[in-house]
Amino acid sequence: MKLVIAQMKHETNTYSPVPTPLARFATGAAVPPEGAAAVAAYRGTGAALAAFIDLAEEAGAEYTVAIAAAAWPSGPVHDDAFEHIAGRICAAVERGCDAVLLDLHGAMVTQSFDDGEGELLRRVRAIVGPDVPIGVALDMHTNLYDAMGANATAIAGYQTYPHIDVYETGLRAGKAVFALLAGKAAPAMAWGNRPMLPHVMRQASDDEPNRALQTRCREMEREGALAATLFVGFPHADISNAGLSAVVVTDGDPALARRWCDELLDAAWREREAFVYRVEPLAQSLARAKEFTQGPVVLLDHYDNAASGGTMDTMAVLGGILDAGLEQVAAFAIHDPQAVQQMIRAGVGAELTLPLGGKLDMPSIGRKGEPRMVTGRVKLISDGRFRNRGPMGRGEHMDMGPTAVFDTGRVEIVVISRHQEPNDYACLISVGIDPEAKRFLMLKSRVHWRAGFKPITKAIVECAGVGVCTSDYSMLEFRHVRRPIFPLDPI
Ligand SMILES: [Zn+2]
Repeated sequence: MKLVIAQMKHETNTYSPVPTPLARFATGAAVPPEGAAAVAAYRGTGAALAAFIDLAEEAGAEYTVAIAAAAWPSGPVHDDAFEHIAGRICAAVERGCDAVLLDLHGAMVTQSFDDGEGELLRRVRAIVGPDVPIGVALDMHTNLYDAMGANATAIAGYQTYPHIDVYETGLRAGKAVFALLAGKAAPAMAWGNRPMLPHVMRQASDDEPNRALQTRCREMEREGALAATLFVGFPHADISNAGLSAVVVTDGDPALARRWCDELLDAAWREREAFVYRVEPLAQSLARAKEFTQGPVVLLDHYDNAASGGTMDTMAVLGGILDAGLEQVAAFAIHDPQAVQQMIRAGVGAELTLPLGGKLDMPSIGRKGEPRMVTGRVKLISDGRFRNRGPMGRGEHMDMGPTAVFDTGRVEIVVISRHQEPNDYACLISVGIDPEAKRFLMLKSRVHWRAGFKPITKAIVECAGVGVCTSDYSMLEFRHVRRPIFPLDPI
């Protein structure tokens, strides 16, 4: 038995000015790893790719990892990057295989294709023909198109947000394919969507309404579904199919797959009002933050996070914290490679005043980048590399690029050169900051911070700043998403 395994992961924020060339999918190299290098990078981690590798090895199958390409969310993927990644996958498939296992995101928009995954799957299916099974693991933020369902054999998506079941999702997608190869199952799949854009700040799987929806997916799997998935979707993508969808795979029962899929979609639709988020003005949030005496209190800069395609360099929330005089604060992070280089030249211990952040303009929301002059001392310089502790992205190697900690006396600001969501405790520990010793943690995140920091957090204050991950949908121009759609239109 011969398998082709590959990874192509990107969540595209079509409003983001952050470019997405091939190098964004590679760490410390010009191109993403392939073959043995890809296996070495992911084996034993919490990735879906790692689950595919484990399943192949347990089955004694011959396998090749065509490419392992993952990048933090950003603007549309450059055509040459997509063609490189898809080309490596198709070249491996063309050499012949009995099955294909793909670790994808499900919300990739390229310069030429609104549905990057559908385009990849269409090409792979055209090579292998109708009979070779294709198993696909997808992120809960998938924006589902028919081309994905029509060209895959079995799709499984994450059932947690923060995403802490990525490996298990790989197992579910992979096992359905192995069962088919062994003649023990005949996957039958149904999928669909509803015209709604659940707000990202209301999508967490430990909060309602998503908790109950994901619980029902797991129940369906206990009742015999090979995989049951409710995708909450990614709204910061101005494409026709952004929003909520579902896919259910049963063993040989298309009618049941259809019924269960519709049940999930109808249940989500009934809860659409509960997926709406209401924004609190920043001044009010910061005034509220001052009242807390016990830390750490998370000050959540949810308009500008890396895991939703933010520039990660807007200064509104951090500026508000500095102006309010909050003390014992750690801030993660400001993406500003120029400032890091300036601090490296100055050296550890140097005092300086520099323009921080605000390097990228954000034409989609009509804002220029606004750096802020900040005075402080260079506390630490590092290479920005660390390994996730988990539970999210367990064991995966992270690379923030050259990194500095800038200490204003009241606020320790982590300044990085490559985007990084603060979803893991190690992002602060690795730069010498003990989060539990702080009164406030300013985190540029939406929901993923909970994976690493919720256990130590005493309180959470959501801070509406500035950025292309804005939680205020009225700031975004939706030109291509299908209309009417809730909550943009009354339905
Ligand atoms: Zn996601």
